[in-house]
Amino acid sequence: MAVELSSILHGGFAHPLSRKWQAERQLTKEMLMYPLFITDCPDEETLVSSLPGQYRRGINKLVPFLTSLVERGLKSVILFGVPLAPTAKDPVGSQSCAPHGPVIQGIQTLKSAFPGLFIACDVCLCEYTSHGHCGVIRPDGRLDNALSVQRIKETAIGYAIAGADCVAPSDMNDGRIRAIKEGLREVGLENKVLLMSYAAKFAGNLYGPFRDAAGSAPSFGDRKCYQLPPSGKGLARRAILRDLNEGADVIMVKPASAYLDVIADAKELARNVPIAAYQVSGEYAMIHAAAKAGVFDLKAMAMETFEGILRAGATIVISYFTEQVLLEGWLDN
Ligand SMILES: [Zn+2]
Repeated sequence: MAVELSSILHGGFAHPLSRKWQAERQLTKEMLMYPLFITDCPDEETLVSSLPGQYRRGINKLVPFLTSLVERGLKSVILFGVPLAPTAKDPVGSQSCAPHGPVIQGIQTLKSAFPGLFIACDVCLCEYTSHGHCGVIRPDGRLDNALSVQRIKETAIGYAIAGADCVAPSDMNDGRIRAIKEGLREVGLENKVLLMSYAAKFAGNLYGPFRDAAGSAPSFGDRKCYQLPPSGKGLARRAILRDLNEGADVIMVKPASAYLDVIADAKELARNVPIAAYQVSGEYAMIHAAAKAGVFDLKAMAMETFEGILRAGATIVISYFTEQVLLEGWLDN
């Protein structure tokens, strides 16, 4: 029996070009944001063994490393400070926005070398607290929300004053988006600095290589009381709406691949702001490990994950693959 005419689909994607037309949006260089780990040892360049091909770098190594990437179309980076000095950590993370600290130094170095590069800064305290948690801890072990938000706000404003284009709080303390937005207004930077919220950030198993790189593993307990439970679809929707109402300019979902439904929810709930997805260290390391084991081709799989992330609704992709995408011309065809 003849197939119904409306059942004939193959003609619509028989050619490589007509297959490309099926995408609602294509990955561009403008969508990619590259994470950088910056230490307080100026000449350091250390491979992070659990994050294949990725390094922690001191301030003197940043410009030589990034020059070829900027030439190949790198548009934006997100900075993570990795203080290694023994004096850099205390219970309240007081060094998080120190003028000589790695993030402020990084902003100033990159802005003068690459004036057009968009510089986002992760804002958190866990790299700077002696206990490794993302805020100030009360005597009973819980986060002190008010004190934590105050420190997060101070940190974000310090980065903004130093010249960051974007501050991105990842601490998950309640109310920090409003506090930062008000802080930006207090210093007259609310019309210049973008506020990207890690709105739907889930606690889970994919952050191990990042903690190796950033030295930010908590010394006791875990982050399950402030990062979202992986099953928490409703909680994620509430967090997205809350951060949007508090003034977020971009809503981020993290991790990406196991949370594509949350990216789609973010796209639906926060339709008037761009959605970012953070393809985290564990996702990157997993793709590398499986490719090495012969399960699939590295580039083909990485590009498939990007297609999924874009299809779900994100238009900003924070990924460790950015370096390879640009240097190997994965988007040139
Ligand atoms: Zn943190």
